Amino acid sequence: MCVGIEEIDTDHKQILAIIATIIDAIDNNANTEAIEKHFAALTVCATSHFKREEALMETMAFDDFIEHQKGHQEFLQQLPELKHQLLYSNNIDAAEHVSQFLYDWVIEHIFISDMDYVHAFHNETKHKISLKAIFQRTSEWLSHRINISTRVLITSVLPIIGMLLLSFIAIKDNYQQYKNMQLLENLTQIVQQVNSLTHNLQIERGLQSSYISSNYKRFSEALTAQQHKSNNEIYTFTTLLNSRKALLTEPMLIEFINSTKIDIAELIIFRSGLNNTDMTSEQMLAGYNEIIAKLLARVNRLSHIKMDAEFANNITAINAIVGLKEILSQQREIGTLLIDDDLSKYELRHSERYKQLYMQLGMQLNAIFIFNYSSTPEQQQACGQLCNIAEHKAFIDNTIEDFMIQPEVNQNSQFWFIQLTNRTDDIKIVTDKIINDLDVKTQLKLKTLEQRFYLVIIIISSIVIFNTFVFTILYHSVITPIRRITYALKQVTLGRYNQQMNECTSSDEIGAMYGAYETLRRKLLQADMSKDIIKRQQQSLLDRRKERDKYRELASRDTLTGALNRRKFNLILKQEIGFAKQDKQKLSLLLLDIDHFKNINDAYGHGGGDQVLRDFYDACFSSVKSSDIVARIGGEEFAILMPETNSTQAHIIAERVRHNISKLQVPYGADNIRLTVSIGLAQWHEHDSFNTEEFISHTDKALYQAKGEGRNCVVAASSSFK
Ligand code: GH3
Ligand code: MG
Ligand code: MG
Repeated sequence: MCVGIEEIDTDHKQILAIIATIIDAIDNNANTEAIEKHFAALTVCATSHFKREEALMETMAFDDFIEHQKGHQEFLQQLPELKHQLLYSNNIDAAEHVSQFLYDWVIEHIFISDMDYVHAFHNETKHKISLKAIFQRTSEWLSHRINISTRVLITSVLPIIGMLLLSFIAIKDNYQQYKNMQLLENLTQIVQQVNSLTHNLQIERGLQSSYISSNYKRFSEALTAQQHKSNNEIYTFTTLLNSRKALLTEPMLIEFINSTKIDIAELIIFRSGLNNTDMTSEQMLAGYNEIIAKLLARVNRLSHIKMDAEFANNITAINAIVGLKEILSQQREIGTLLIDDDLSKYELRHSERYKQLYMQLGMQLNAIFIFNYSSTPEQQQACGQLCNIAEHKAFIDNTIEDFMIQPEVNQNSQFWFIQLTNRTDDIKIVTDKIINDLDVKTQLKLKTLEQRFYLVIIIISSIVIFNTFVFTILYHSVITPIRRITYALKQVTLGRYNQQMNECTSSDEIGAMYGAYETLRRKLLQADMSKDIIKRQQQSLLDRRKERDKYRELASRDTLTGALNRRKFNLILKQEIGFAKQDKQKLSLLLLDIDHFKNINDAYGHGGGDQVLRDFYDACFSSVKSSDIVARIGGEEFAILMPETNSTQAHIIAERVRHNISKLQVPYGADNIRLTVSIGLAQWHEHDSFNTEEFISHTDKALYQAKGEGRNCVVAASSSFK
């Protein structure tokens, strides 16, 4: 019975209590005083409650205010009428009607009318505390737009989406690394191939140089064999470039491949022109140098491709050492020619080739510096003394000193060639090792990345599967019970209490909800049963009361005419004297005696007399108001009690009765019996302090007087009998 506003709830409780008391009072046939008291309390309480409600409705500018106010006024106006019905109609149906009306009204008022403005009041309150209610309103807003299943779905799926996003970033990073490694692998292969090709071209260039400086006599066979090997290298390199072209998307690499192919084409053309004996050593060397330099420069530029710094350094280091080897080979060729020039010390020191030797030494030292700068400690260790600037400088200085400045007899150009070739071969071994190591490292890293990729995929898939599984279970553990309980509650509103929920054993909010529902269901079932029992009890009480009233009624009626008997008449008379006293009302009494009734009996027998008595009563009853009481108080004596009637009005009525009786014809057998009546009349006066007996005897005197005055007349008693 709670609407959620404290004062209103308190009022409702009070009103309910008063109405319950009134209904009890009705049931227990409480006296007038008690009924009066309860109705007065109800009026006071309802008036103050309505005032409170109206004030509340006014402050919140409630739309239906006027209508509610009208309802309140109507109820207050109805209360006196109800009270009157209860007190003045000696009728069980009237009492029933009053208690039913009050019961219906209180239910209608609390559960229907008040709920309108209470709902509006709560909404208003919610809007007032706007800041604090932001979360609440947002969640309400969401609940209006997204149903609970979707909200639970979003809650569960959001972390999965977040995780997938993170995984995507991890996979993308992994993929990028994988791509970089693939690129590096390709680059390593290309560098390896360029190294191999330039090495062969260097040997070929050396042999060509020696072949020319021996006036095309020596080295012919070795040169042809080397040319054959170089051809193979060119073929392998071209094949590699063609096979990689489709795989590589890096623009720099594509450009490298295209340009290198042009270089190779130029190389092929250049080499085909080498048989021309007019070509000088310088021209031949320049030709080889240019192509080798071009290839190395192009490889050098590959280190600028966007990739991991460590691997870019590796490429730079390899390029540096490949460059060192190339310059050393060029130095070898220049030195061979210089020794074969057979110059004096002075000429030697001032020759172009001698200067070139030292320029090349500078370039070599620079290449070693770059190598040392960009290589890893392992690569430096692999290179050893070969990559030590001081040692390399000392080696070149000493070799030039030994072969050119202070030559011994057997130190000819061939030995110089062999000495430097040994050095280039050593560098070649180091280069191959470094390239190979890098290749192995790259392969390893590629494998690791590949494994990591699959691992990430497996982990993500497992997590997604696990999450989906857990989500599905969680989703159902939340949504299904909510759906069940909603369905069950809807059933309850339709009066069906058969949905049991006691199988849920969870101890969380849903368990509590199930428990609460189950308690509610049982209470409603109980209430229903109690209502049934009470209804049945009420019905039996009502039946008993009706039966009692029927017997009471029978006991208060005369069996011959159906008129109230003397005993009942006396009771009513006493009661009416009480009301008249209390309400300061008039009250009049007629006493009627049929004239010469004995003669009727004598003439028509008792049967005729009885019929006359019955018709006489009916005629009297229909001659007066329904609120007047007609009673048979003796053999052929009747009384008519008229509340709220003074003697003048009573006189008129008495005359009317007398007249009607004188006109009455009672059919009996073949005859119509006629009769007359004498009537005595008196009005009750408070100052006479009449009691019942006194009032009757006072009236009886008037009747006696009427008999004396010749019968068939009305005589009013004097205003005071004393
Ligand atoms: P008066 O005009 O002086 O009243 O004369 P009366 O004959 O009416 O008066 P009286 O009191 O002498 O007679 C009344 C008679 O009514 C006597 C009695 O037999 C008769 N009586 C009383 N009760 C009944 C009844 O229930 N049925 C019948 N048929 N007669 C009754
Ligand atoms: Mg008589
Ligand atoms: Mg009589």
